[in-house]
Amino acid sequence: MLWNVEQAKKWIKRLNDKIQENKAYLTELDQAIGDGDHGLNMARGLQEAANKIADSHYDDLGSLFKDVGMTLIAKVGGASGPLYGTAFMKASLVLKDRKETDRNAFVAAFSAALDGLKMRGKAQVGDKTMIDVWDPVIAWMKSHETIRANELVDLSKEKMEDTKELEAKKGRAAYLGKRSVGHLDPGAVSSYLLFASLAESFEKGESAP
Ligand code: ADP
Ligand code: MG
Repeated sequence: MLWNVEQAKKWIKRLNDKIQENKAYLTELDQAIGDGDHGLNMARGLQEAANKIADSHYDDLGSLFKDVGMTLIAKVGGASGPLYGTAFMKASLVLKDRKETDRNAFVAAFSAALDGLKMRGKAQVGDKTMIDVWDPVIAWMKSHETIRANELVDLSKEKMEDTKELEAKKGRAAYLGKRSVGHLDPGAVSSYLLFASLAESFEKGESAP
């Protein structure tokens, strides 16, 4: 597998399109168990990130990921901005000076992103957060030599859907306790969109997994 700057840029553009399409849906989910700003937060942050990278030239993947991370931290309010921002910043360290990644560096970058999410948010698997999607998806990436688009999208969807039955232990939804059960976690849904857009870019041949 190879993934270069142009392909990564296309992924971010694809992710932004998906987030804009789902802005109202993410907001609706966050209205049920949070403060109703997740769609707005993500739409604002990804749009800023997409604009920023469209107008910039990058010699390596690290600087591209760093710009996305810094933009998310700077432009997104709420818990999700610093969380996703930290994820991209941590991945950027692995991708530093790399014009392209092979499968191992790609998985190492996403694994570092997950470590960043855990470090920043201190959530565990089962706490009904984006970690419930990220953790199993990264474990799957690590244990599979070939990252197949359909498997990636199916697994992230399944893990996202599983958050419905969980009781929130972290984030605003935790204030609701048992009343958070029966609702999808908004951040798990945006994380599903992140992996689904990655899978789509693999399918479109924007990178060869
Ligand atoms: P806020 O909760 O500040 O309004 P958002 O609505 O943008 O921020 O994001 C909420 C999402 O952030 C949640 O659905 C959850 O997935 C994620 N989240 C919240 N707290 C944490 C945490 N400590 N660790 C991991 N993810 C978290
Ligand atoms: Mg919110």
